[in-house]
Amino acid sequence: MSTLWTQLEPLLSKVQKPARYIGCEDGSLHPHPRAGQVGWLFTYPDTYEIGLPNQGLQILYEIVNERDDAWAERSYAPWVDLEGELRRHGLPLFSVDTHRPAAEFDLLAFNLSAELVYTNVLNCIDLAGVPVRATDRRPEHPLVVLGGHCTYNPEPLADFVDLVVLGDGEEVVSEITDIVREWKSSGRTDGSREHVLRALAQVPGVYVPSLYEAEFDGEHLVGVFPKHPDVPEVVEKRTIADLGEWPYPKHQLVPLTEVVHDRLNVEVFRGCTRGCRFCQAGMITRPVRERPADQVRDMVQGGLRRTGYDEVALTSLSTADFSGIDKVVADTVNDPSNCGQVSVSLPSLRVDAFTVGIAAEIQKARRTGLTFAPEAGTWRMRQVINKLIRNDDLYGAVDSAYSQGWRRMKLYFMTGLPTETDPDTLGIAELATNCVELGRAHHKNPSVTVSVGGFVPKPFTPFQWFGQNTVSELYRKIGLLRDATKRTRGVQLKWHDPKATLIEGIMSRGDRRLGPVIEAVWRSGGTFQEWSEYFDHTLWVETMAAHGLSVDWYVHRHRTEDEVMPWDHLSAGLHRDFLWQDWRDALDEVGLEDCRWTPCYDCGACTGYGIEHIVASATPPAGGSQGTGQDLATGGIVPVTIDGVRRPAGVGAP
Ligand code: SF4
Repeated sequence: MSTLWTQLEPLLSKVQKPARYIGCEDGSLHPHPRAGQVGWLFTYPDTYEIGLPNQGLQILYEIVNERDDAWAERSYAPWVDLEGELRRHGLPLFSVDTHRPAAEFDLLAFNLSAELVYTNVLNCIDLAGVPVRATDRRPEHPLVVLGGHCTYNPEPLADFVDLVVLGDGEEVVSEITDIVREWKSSGRTDGSREHVLRALAQVPGVYVPSLYEAEFDGEHLVGVFPKHPDVPEVVEKRTIADLGEWPYPKHQLVPLTEVVHDRLNVEVFRGCTRGCRFCQAGMITRPVRERPADQVRDMVQGGLRRTGYDEVALTSLSTADFSGIDKVVADTVNDPSNCGQVSVSLPSLRVDAFTVGIAAEIQKARRTGLTFAPEAGTWRMRQVINKLIRNDDLYGAVDSAYSQGWRRMKLYFMTGLPTETDPDTLGIAELATNCVELGRAHHKNPSVTVSVGGFVPKPFTPFQWFGQNTVSELYRKIGLLRDATKRTRGVQLKWHDPKATLIEGIMSRGDRRLGPVIEAVWRSGGTFQEWSEYFDHTLWVETMAAHGLSVDWYVHRHRTEDEVMPWDHLSAGLHRDFLWQDWRDALDEVGLEDCRWTPCYDCGACTGYGIEHIVASATPPAGGSQGTGQDLATGGIVPVTIDGVRRPAGVGAP
């Protein structure tokens, strides 16, 4: 077995966090590959701390390692200090499991969840010793694969990758393995790379950018068309119909060093039909598919016992909607075999009485901060984005939480949303101020941290036609908020850098012409752009200009109904006319009920799967299907139950 460990070990004493590169975590595997087996290197293009908890990567790592004819290892982007050492010593990117050189794998697969890591992808390919441009690769080089949410518009990276996987990876990873195994057994002869890519393009969910041509008419995209008749015109995403068939990860990795989300994570369902119009994850992961409650309980109990964690997160896009939530929580909290008291966290909290009540029950072990995401400052704005939380809902939840012992809250908002006015922006400050006031009735020094991010329109959402706010407009709005909150004791304001929001916007809806920009920024040293200390806004903007590309055209321009989008040859299952109608409804401030409790809107996501939504209750939650106190059918307000006390909505509202 080829390992770089003896060369790497002396370098680790020279870098900040050697534990990032050691491997040997509980749950990690140390495969001994045999001839003919297909090797996958699953790489997260950011640091170990951010990449290790990634569930998608861990799931595929296990699935591949269960096969007799394949093996998988992991890699993370080395921090700049180790990268410098590697390049100085002529060493390549390596796996953390056996420290094998990346180029010895057959597939170098990246999980992409954010746009600012694109230059890190190029850096990892280059550090692996693989040509960064797909056209320069030869049969002996690994195939470069992308997966994750950003693949729904992979066009900016089209020049650098060999294949892109859309949707759930559980099944398709094996189908790709089968084809690559045959390619290996045929000897990977000259010219065979194109042959294997043609074969892979036949796998549903696999997009091979080099087999498509992007045509432009002036600055506008005419379309992205297949070069050969056997290559699909539209690539459909993959969807696993039954989450219960995939109880992965079975052996979640336990890191040796501190990482984000350092706890047991168990996915309870995939997909979301609440219909928040800004939320790409909710749209592209439809339909909703629940894991059986018994299986969740077994995964939680087994995982806690094996890992020793005292916290488990039940993950999904809206965990309070999980129909087995009561049973799972009760079984977990009361399990005598736990070592000590266990906290259950619901990372995605809905603002309603049920959530706060259950939060109080399950966080007995540790009362950490509570986070709510109203997303927008006024009810009008929340109707536009279809996050139908009334001020009352938030105040009720916050008051209830303060009364049950919490002192600190976090509230997440976006600014720069479609149709947003200054009163909408200032509504954020008003909500936060009122929340602190509510806290004073229960505690001496309550606090509310307000986090504000600039809105980036994403592909396959109703907001994909919207022209993003400029950097100066976002700064102006943050300034409004700063002025409005600076004298309010207990309110802290944090914001995401609008300049980073701009670059995310360029990549989010960009086309193939951005490839040379990404490459030039990377060649100028622009890696780790997610990290404020390395983010270089000027470099991006100047590089765009040097390539004759207008930031304004890519980011700030509203799109017309019939404009061809760079992702129109890909499909997340959603009908374009559904998204367009939802965009018109947004502009008309018309809300949309959750289709789990109302007739189907024929968004397209369930077509062909025969999936029935499984819901927590046969009737919608208190206050309508969005659990918000707003009856969308009548426009009226309905009573909400908070802490077991039924009170009319509107009481206590400002
Ligand atoms: S197809 Fe119908 S039921 Fe399925 S997610 Fe879309 S609107 Fe809901």
